[in-house]
Amino acid sequence: MRKMRLLPLPFVCIILMFFMTLPESLATEVAVATGTRVGGDATRTRFVADVSETVSYSVYVLPDPYRVVIDLPNVRFDLPPGIGHKVRGLVSEYRYGLLEAGKSRIVIDTLGPVLIEKSFLVEPQLGQPARIVVDIVKTTEAAFVKSYNSEQVKSQQHIAELSVGPISPPAPEKKIVLANKVGKKIIVLDPGHGGVDPGAVSPRGTKEKDVVLSFARVLRQALVATGKYDVVMTRNDDRFISLKNRVSVAREKEADLFLAIHADTVRGRDARGVTIYTLSDRASDAEAEALAKRENRADIIGGLDLEAETEEITDILIDLAQRESKNHAMFFSKKAVTQLRPLTLMTGKPLRSAGFVVLKAPDVPSILLELGFLSSKSDEKLLTSVVWQTKIAKAFATAVDSYFATEVASKAN
Ligand code: ZN
Repeated sequence: MRKMRLLPLPFVCIILMFFMTLPESLATEVAVATGTRVGGDATRTRFVADVSETVSYSVYVLPDPYRVVIDLPNVRFDLPPGIGHKVRGLVSEYRYGLLEAGKSRIVIDTLGPVLIEKSFLVEPQLGQPARIVVDIVKTTEAAFVKSYNSEQVKSQQHIAELSVGPISPPAPEKKIVLANKVGKKIIVLDPGHGGVDPGAVSPRGTKEKDVVLSFARVLRQALVATGKYDVVMTRNDDRFISLKNRVSVAREKEADLFLAIHADTVRGRDARGVTIYTLSDRASDAEAEALAKRENRADIIGGLDLEAETEEITDILIDLAQRESKNHAMFFSKKAVTQLRPLTLMTGKPLRSAGFVVLKAPDVPSILLELGFLSSKSDEKLLTSVVWQTKIAKAFATAVDSYFATEVASKAN
């Protein structure tokens, strides 16, 4: 937890805080972002967000890919759909959403390295909303790196000042394995993406984050209906969760099975069907590798740096437990393919593997389900259909039953 608390701080380049005492009657109301605008040209671009009331915010830049992040308290975004998709000046795209309880974020992708020239807040006046203004200017890669590094040093000093006494290394994680875990099996469902990260988006605007959440809810219902499982969801609303935290949920709950749920898009090809992925250090093929890269980008989109997070998980990889978990995951995947194949279209190779960060809990059999391709009109139709979702969820529940039945049988021998 210590790590999570400190993580975002090194990236803070500019922090601007504005406070205003709210009248009592308004104190519980959430601020609403009612408009955004981008203006300027390819050397200097201004981003403006209209907010119903004055809020505190911080703005900073991040590399790989270059982007500007505006962190806000809980803000509801009441913006027209597709507003963030237009290229203007230095801005290629922007996204917004809830990051976690009480925290919202706007992520502005830029066409190259930029610096924040200035940022300020205009108080609401004469019936106009408050405005957050961020001016960004084009810069060179070298200047970006120099500025970014010096800000990191400052932030680290800031962390040192904040901590009381020496920072001790985090205690090694201990997991109590209950030899005879009684009661229901625990299944963690992990609908991908969320909040600021929409995941894949169909040409017609269907978002992966919405489709996978809706499927996860149907699947949860199907599993709970058997009376055999406790089902935990990593998210049950539209919020961003880091990949590491998704893995943590599986570990903390001592899950017996972890199912990540996603949907993909591909450009220029008519790919369709369901695919089931397990973890592997070596991807089973180039397509699987490319997909893992896309899915692992979730954290970059949310603004956290993946590299800092994977280090810990890489160490865990050594754990022998993982080998066993992988075998279990593979075993389950085969059961799932058997159930799904008669019911719906599957891709040419429905069982694949690649280095998905979200599957790296060493002691939990984990699989990633790609429901289909939002780039295909036919798949999109299925994925958004409650009838199809229910059919697939039931088949999945049967696969889960069959998996645990065999598990128990093999352990009894
Ligand atoms: Zn995804």
